[in-house]
Amino acid sequence: MRHGYRCEDCNLAVFPTTTRVELAWLKDRTHVAREVARHSSGGLDSWMMEGLAFLDNHAGHSVALVRANPPK
Ligand SMILES: [Zn+2]
Repeated sequence: MRHGYRCEDCNLAVFPTTTRVELAWLKDRTHVAREVARHSSGGLDSWMMEGLAFLDNHAGHSVALVRANPPK
């Protein structure tokens, strides 16, 4: 089961390749992730970059942690 972030204001969602636990962690600690990015020459994992970019784009919006709909 894939999980992701969904912006209720824009009706947009992303589903980075990671677990729900990781996504919840990132959503609560974007400032920590940005610090890690700043001090890491190798950069962040791609799911984290994708998640952070989405959270940045939708700062101040109503972003929820959601489950991807199973394919029909
Ligand atoms: Zn938005």
